[in-house]
Amino acid sequence: MENLQELKLLKDLYHYKTLGYTYFSDIKKPIITVDADIDLPSSMDELRSIAEQCSLCTLANSRKKVVFGEGNPNADIMFVGEAPGSVEDETGRPFVGKSGQLLTKIIETTLELKREDVYISNIVKCRPPLNREPSRAEAQKCLPFLMKQIELVKPKIIITLGATSYKYLSGDYESAISKIRGEMIQFSHALLMPTFHPSFLLRNPSAKKYVFLDMQKVKALL
Ligand code: URA
Repeated sequence: MENLQELKLLKDLYHYKTLGYTYFSDIKKPIITVDADIDLPSSMDELRSIAEQCSLCTLANSRKKVVFGEGNPNADIMFVGEAPGSVEDETGRPFVGKSGQLLTKIIETTLELKREDVYISNIVKCRPPLNREPSRAEAQKCLPFLMKQIELVKPKIIITLGATSYKYLSGDYESAISKIRGEMIQFSHALLMPTFHPSFLLRNPSAKKYVFLDMQKVKALL
């Protein structure tokens, strides 16, 4: 019966197509397609060493250090930022500048965890000149490293920090961060929660209450 209905539907669709109708699917497909076939190692140290020699995009020309990511390799929570800033570029460590200090405070005070308990990474591993937003092409080149990190850490919850991190990781280019933050979204075997970026909070301290609410949700889930 179901097959018959499907056949009829297909026949109707072909009929509409011959009349000039165009078919659009409602399903949001990721705009960034991560090259799943890319052959990356399943050891974090080897992955780091490959990332540290990477020159797949032009960010390699201006970076001082590759900021691979750090933290508990078996963390339940993984934070994903946008891109390293100048302090991160100097030190090779993610979120160690002003916004990093705020992130550490958020982890300690709202999640009641230590920074070393979580895993912290970024969409791109090299600093974009003048801290500009990474381009789609740069994100696309770098995402396989992040996807492999996610595969290895197997976090229960991935918290994307800011609009850029959310859009490049989820492939959802439409939702405004102010609308989508705090939502739990299924992402492979994990849940993805978008929230505001700490640097946005430094500029807009009144938004801290929303991040506090988001972290309460995360805490309740663990
Ligand atoms: N901002 C980010 O998005 N990532 C960092 O590592 C530092 C600042």
